[in-house]
Amino acid sequence: MFSQKKERCPLCGSPEIRHKYRINRYETAFDTDICSSCGFIFMNPPLTGETIKSLYTEQYYSGSADYSYVDERRIKKFSAYVWDSRIDYIHRFIKSGNFLDVGASFGGLMESAERYFTAYGIEVSSYSALHTSARFGSRIHHGTLADHPFSRNFFSAITMIELIEHLEDPAAALRECHSLLRENGVLVIQTANMNGLQARSMGGNYEYFMPGHLSYFSMNNLTQALLKTGFKKIRVFYPVEFGLLPKLKKSRGTFTKLQDYKNWYTITKYHLLGMIHWNDFALKSSMVVYAFR
Ligand SMILES: [Zn+2]
Repeated sequence: MFSQKKERCPLCGSPEIRHKYRINRYETAFDTDICSSCGFIFMNPPLTGETIKSLYTEQYYSGSADYSYVDERRIKKFSAYVWDSRIDYIHRFIKSGNFLDVGASFGGLMESAERYFTAYGIEVSSYSALHTSARFGSRIHHGTLADHPFSRNFFSAITMIELIEHLEDPAAALRECHSLLRENGVLVIQTANMNGLQARSMGGNYEYFMPGHLSYFSMNNLTQALLKTGFKKIRVFYPVEFGLLPKLKKSRGTFTKLQDYKNWYTITKYHLLGMIHWNDFALKSSMVVYAFR
């Protein structure tokens, strides 16, 4: 179920690692270590890829397939508000070219990207890769960043939205993205900032600790890793690069009654508090990083 225990930090390579949290609120309990040098937190020993796959399959088939299909289509229109806003923001820097979404899921972000770019995707799940290939054909690769068919310097923009925390070797993924990007291209990463007060105050109870997540970054160590990989310029956004409105519009997708609009208060509060940051300090743990090659 677990792979071999790591003796070094998977992000910076330092051998100075120590135990951080034992997470035992799931059926599969696991341990996390922290690197004393860069503060990177990682599952150690990591669950094997096969075990993680089996966890997701279980979740996937726990509901009726028909229901989840209809649900996906119903929410898609609302999720597009967020996808479109993200693509518009990327478009401020990158006007055209090839676009790659790593962890493309059902291809929603790819569809938004098609307004300016030629969209490609990488998706590890056969269920969603099959669905997405119906629209994008061979432009969707069923696999990972380690076995894709794309050539170096091919992409103008690459996105990894809530993807990098699932990877056992994130440093290798950053190197791969760097080599896939053309000069001045951008890599967009959304993941939790474990240095945020929200994550630190909750410790091992923070909801981000889950069996599918192997890598837990901070703004600092992610930025350092990107610079070390060769990216020239980094910009960090709190909580995300776009405004509050697309989030509110997206949330309507799950609303069924008038009272659900009360959620707008919670979403607004989180978004505004999420903007509070100063140097290393961030109140909440949401961040988006733009790294330019
Ligand atoms: Zn480290």
